[in-house]
Amino acid sequence: MRAVADLLREAYAAADVDQAASVLNGLLRRNAGRLRLTSHAGRSPWHPHLDGDDDAPWAEWFLASSCLALTVLVWDRQRPPGGICASPDCSNVFLTQGSGPPRRYCSRRCATRERVAAHRRKTSG
Ligand SMILES: [Zn+2]
Repeated sequence: MRAVADLLREAYAAADVDQAASVLNGLLRRNAGRLRLTSHAGRSPWHPHLDGDDDAPWAEWFLASSCLALTVLVWDRQRPPGGICASPDCSNVFLTQGSGPPRRYCSRRCATRERVAAHRRKTSG
C-alpha cells in the first residue's frame, strides 16, 4: 500500500492539468487492466473494476480504482485532481472540490496552523 500511495502522490503533485494527465496515463499503462463492470458473481451491486482481476490484491485494486477516479476528475474539470498540503508540517494529499480559488492546505486545521504561524513570524519580527 505504501508503494501504491507513493505512485498516486505524483498525480496529486502535478503542477497543471497536462502533467496530471501524463502521470495518470503512465500509471494506467503500467498498472491497469481492462475497464469492466462486475458484481462479484452477484455478491455486490454492479461496479467498475480496472485492476487485473476482479479479486486482485487490495493494493492493486486501490491503485487501479484511484487512477479511474482521478481520471474522471481530470476529464470532468480539466484541471489537476488535487494537490499536496502546503504546510511544511504535513504531507497529506487532498482532492480539489467544487470551483473557486486553488486550495493550498489539506484541511482547515492545517490552514489555521499556518495562518497562526505566519502571524507569529510577523509579530515577533
Ligand atoms: Zn495538511
